Amino acid sequence: MHFKEGIIIDSSALKHLKNPAIVQQIAQQEPLFWRNPHYNEPDNQVPFRQSDIFDAVARWDRFAPYLAQVFPETAATKGIIESPLTPIPHFHSAWEQANHFSLPGNLYMKQDNQLPISGSIKSRGGIYEVLKFAEQIAIQEGDLCYLDNYAVLATPKYQQLFANYAVTAGSTGNLGLSIGIAAATFGFQTTIHMSRDARAWKKAKLRANGVNVVEHDGDCNTAVAAARQQAENDPHTYFIDDEGSPDLFLGYSVAAVRLQKQLKEQHITVDADHPLLVYLPAGVGGSPGGVTFGLKKILGPHVHAIFAEPVTVPSVMLGMVTELNQKISVYDIGLSGQTQADGLAVCRPSVLAGKVMRTLLLGAATFADDKIFQALTLLADTENIKVEPSAAAGLAILPTTTPQLASQTLLNKATHIAWATGGNMVPDADWQTFYQQGQDLL
Ligand SMILES: *Cc1c(COP(=O)(O)O)cnc(C)c1O
Repeated sequence: MHFKEGIIIDSSALKHLKNPAIVQQIAQQEPLFWRNPHYNEPDNQVPFRQSDIFDAVARWDRFAPYLAQVFPETAATKGIIESPLTPIPHFHSAWEQANHFSLPGNLYMKQDNQLPISGSIKSRGGIYEVLKFAEQIAIQEGDLCYLDNYAVLATPKYQQLFANYAVTAGSTGNLGLSIGIAAATFGFQTTIHMSRDARAWKKAKLRANGVNVVEHDGDCNTAVAAARQQAENDPHTYFIDDEGSPDLFLGYSVAAVRLQKQLKEQHITVDADHPLLVYLPAGVGGSPGGVTFGLKKILGPHVHAIFAEPVTVPSVMLGMVTELNQKISVYDIGLSGQTQADGLAVCRPSVLAGKVMRTLLLGAATFADDKIFQALTLLADTENIKVEPSAAAGLAILPTTTPQLASQTLLNKATHIAWATGGNMVPDADWQTFYQQGQDLL
């Protein structure tokens, strides 16, 4: 069954979907928490294994000398692209007060807003897939071997080789930034397809890096479809598919291996008495799905992931509740698909998200846009951390989610991590507007 846009808007048609009562609730756009009934069921449908994560870890390590050289901001960490895990106690109590709720346990932020190159979580997946493609070309067509120092890939010889190939992707913004900057740095001919209303500074930054930016009118799938089309017409063009690429997904999963070490360094225990709850903003579900898959494989059963989505664009939740996954779009139940959380403005989940998350995701929650601006402003005031609107989504769902979890988990000894998915590249003037919007609402 494949629903086309606009087919299921009347409520009699909703009845034919799985879990019609929940779909009805989603359609009403009230913030809600949904607990996944298949959580922790045995599952042999997941198409990835733990060894896939370590394959990705090893590839990132091989490329570290190259990255340290071409992206000087990664030199201090020797080419490892990672973000800090930061306790946010002042925000914690201010947020409880502002929303009249109580969050037992300790609240942290995983600061992917500080990740080098794209200033967002997309530096994990997007760059990883470019690395993997470059490695494949360099081994097949050049004379790279796995034990070489990969800094050699920055030499003219390899740049000329890469210039014979093109890389393309469609994106609402941050994925385009990470793929565009990484691919252009290797020397690939790089084209990013974007919707016309994507932020102007992102397009300008890409063009300044030598990337060809093509703007499109139309709904949220148009840019990705255009990129796919471009690659279909040319065997030398490599298409990075935000709607289903396994490599993107695995690039994100590496975060779990890094987080395991950070938890140990900060003496944070994760076990039956000390659960770890992780709140992840979800667009197509690729970045939060990859991170969640990694966390469940690396940290085990006492880590629990919850996705955060706008009430107007709950793509992953709708896909999982109806079990139609990418075959249903938020337009099909009459939602607008509009949100100021532009990283989350995708009307349909990826092919992988619902399938891999079916038994690994505890649940998902929705928030109204006002809540992300309030959280963004309060986070700046109390912790001096600047995030973009999408990146505050994990904080925005806490007031609705916490009361629903309290009965089931030992929250007193819990660690909560809100994943801050982006922010550092946002120009100051844009950020001031977001901040002001939050201040007006508090
Ligand atoms: C892309 C993005 C997300 C969501 O990632 P998906 O893979 O689309 O689910 C969340 N926050 C920010 C800032 C993003 O750029």
